[in-house]
Amino acid sequence: MKVILANDGIAQEGIVLLEKEGFQVQNTRVAEEQLANYINTNKVDALLVRSATRVDKKLIDACPDLKLIGRGGVGLDNIDVKYAESKGIKVFNTPEASSESVAELVFAHLLNGVRFLHDSNRNMPLDGDSQFKQLKKSYSAGVELKGKTLGIVGFGRIGQATAKMALALGMEVLYTDHHADETTLTLSFYNGQTIDFSLQKSELKDVLANSDFVSLHVPSQDTYLIGKKELGLMKPGAGIINTSRGGVLDEVALVEALENNHLAFAGLDVFESEPTPEIKILMNPKISLSPHIGGSTLEAQQRIGKELAQNVIDLLK
Ligand code: NAD
Repeated sequence: MKVILANDGIAQEGIVLLEKEGFQVQNTRVAEEQLANYINTNKVDALLVRSATRVDKKLIDACPDLKLIGRGGVGLDNIDVKYAESKGIKVFNTPEASSESVAELVFAHLLNGVRFLHDSNRNMPLDGDSQFKQLKKSYSAGVELKGKTLGIVGFGRIGQATAKMALALGMEVLYTDHHADETTLTLSFYNGQTIDFSLQKSELKDVLANSDFVSLHVPSQDTYLIGKKELGLMKPGAGIINTSRGGVLDEVALVEALENNHLAFAGLDVFESEPTPEIKILMNPKISLSPHIGGSTLEAQQRIGKELAQNVIDLLK
């Protein structure tokens, strides 16, 4: 019987699929220092992780019988993929499964930003008529998303899912990417109706200069893609959302742009220092925060679990 260790958890749907095919699933969290020993003692064939478990050279060297590493989600930055593959271990991820969930979180942050919800949630008075009236004044200058322009940096799976939602809300969309000069998006509605929408790629500087809000959807980068200079190109009063990876956006430059009122707000799901973001980020009233939960919805977790299971079945059977 083949043994699968799901070290960062797996949805029940995935366990059911695997057990039906005769795999033994250990859905348990083993600490990093004990992981190699656990894998060898329990004769684990496939290790399934999300972003928490680090699979580095040391672990790979210590587990010569490991055959497969599966990453639930998109980024493979916590796995030394090249090294694993050089040792004959297959590595896969589930890139499609969380796109819709991440795109919806972009709009959660955007709507927080334009209506100050993150800040009003923190400040609602327990009592006091005058305080309520004062807050009502502070939070009454919101704007609508409809009719505004959303700039999307990185037009892959999540960037495109975000673009479709923006179009459905009546927003204009600009995008930039290394690839895809022109893209046709198909918007699907609940009744089966579809609409095709063609968009032309722009340069990064033009996306930044002409968007009311900018949303980042590129993979991890070697240097900041959006630093002081790029933030300076953005429209005064604009907002920026990062659900991609910490390090894509320079947080020091971001705080400066918010403090000098060049930007109105930011929404962050990812941070340069995870899991302990800088205090200046955590305490900033203009930043809507979430703890890297872009793909953490019931539906995305179910899709991830099933996709992980199907890949294990296809590759190990
Ligand atoms: P994807 O590979 O489908 O798309 C990324 C796009 O970015 C590609 O089209 C690529 O050409 C483009 N790109 C790369 N570098 C660029 C650059 N310097 N300038 C312009 N374009 C560039 O990836 P995806 O599935 O859409 O994921 C996007 C990001 O979201 C990744 O960083 C991923 O790790 C992150 N993510 C976050 C969560 C979360 O929980 N917050 C969940 C899933 C994915």
